[in-house]
Amino acid sequence: MSTGKGIPFVDLITPHQELQDELLAAAKSVITSAMFIGGPILEEFEKEFAEYCDADYCVGVSSGTDALRFALMASGVTKGDIVITVANTFAATVEAILQAGARPHFIDINPRTFNMDVDGLKAFLHNECDNLKSGRCPVHRASGRTVKAIMPVHLYGQMCDMDAILSLAEEFNLMVFEDACQAHGSQYFSARMNAWQRAGSLGKAAGFSFYPGKNLGACGEAGAVTTNDKEVAQRVRMIRDHGQSKKYQHQVEGYNGRLDALQAALLRVKLPLLEDWNARRLTLAANYNELLRDTRTVATPYESDWTRSNYHLYVIICAYGRDELQRHLTDRNIGTGLHYPIPLHLQEAYSHFGFGKGSLPVTEELAGKILSLPMYPQLQREQQEQVVEALAEFYARQPVSTHAG
Ligand SMILES: *Cc1c(COP(=O)(O)O)cnc(C)c1O
Repeated sequence: MSTGKGIPFVDLITPHQELQDELLAAAKSVITSAMFIGGPILEEFEKEFAEYCDADYCVGVSSGTDALRFALMASGVTKGDIVITVANTFAATVEAILQAGARPHFIDINPRTFNMDVDGLKAFLHNECDNLKSGRCPVHRASGRTVKAIMPVHLYGQMCDMDAILSLAEEFNLMVFEDACQAHGSQYFSARMNAWQRAGSLGKAAGFSFYPGKNLGACGEAGAVTTNDKEVAQRVRMIRDHGQSKKYQHQVEGYNGRLDALQAALLRVKLPLLEDWNARRLTLAANYNELLRDTRTVATPYESDWTRSNYHLYVIICAYGRDELQRHLTDRNIGTGLHYPIPLHLQEAYSHFGFGKGSLPVTEELAGKILSLPMYPQLQREQQEQVVEALAEFYARQPVSTHAG
């Protein structure tokens, strides 16, 4: 079996070759106009992305991390507040919470969806918080801190159980911020609304990343906040621009966190293709599911009836031998990833939040079993067959019995 050049984990070269003429023309128009910061191209992109997400407003910022941080700050999350989130996510989720002055509180994940476990969320709010006054935020008994918000992460592109999270948020007077950095175009069927809803249109505000490897990627760093709240949108506009309401009128403490016109122009070239790219990923996910159907050593991703994932990542669960399998695939020039190998509560930087080993058992167990297979719109079925063949070859040499228990 020859894999030729091999199968990369992501392919950022092909889409940019295919779109080279359009991308260069878009870049040229920005350079010729010399409107590098702000201007009509940025506004057009913001309008188009808001529309894409079914959100009222979109504010372009410099990264997904800033998007989440500015969304929190613009909504009144402040120093000492608690924001509830999960530990199996990229570090940026927690960075945004900390940089807004707040503290993360981790809830374990659901073993099937890998997303925030709503029973765990409910138990935390009922059992570990004081909810004395109606209309006020809960107080975390152990720390005395005010619980202000929930930041569910739509991990790998599958949306969290938003009906349950939003009802709990209403009951406990909390704000909800979607970490939609992996969820461009993902959908959720809301029984409450009796409608499919898009990531970025639910809750107080959402943060998107346009890091190059995301489903919609810039040619550099970029992100966006979406919201249906006009005031939040206005405050994010100020915060991204040094807190200015007008030039040299600094109304709030701000940052340099704008989305530049060049990236906006490049994103505008790609946005019209996003639906097709996501559809292609869905087909590829179905291919993998089918090719892996008879494999008992790995489980394919679970997708609930009420979500439509954008398959940012295709993540399998290995019953055993994950690291050896990954090495085996690497030896055959097949790129894979781990999202994420060390849960955030066990990272050195975040170990002082009091979540020791064993505190989030599902998160911790899955971290050692997950493996992300190659997934991008340009991936070919024959390449998927090669990936699955190499996987089967590995497990054929590793009988289950030697690893039992
Ligand atoms: C990519 C990502 C971010 C951060 O986005 P950047 O644009 O890299 O700052 C945040 N959260 C999640 C879940 C992500 O995948």
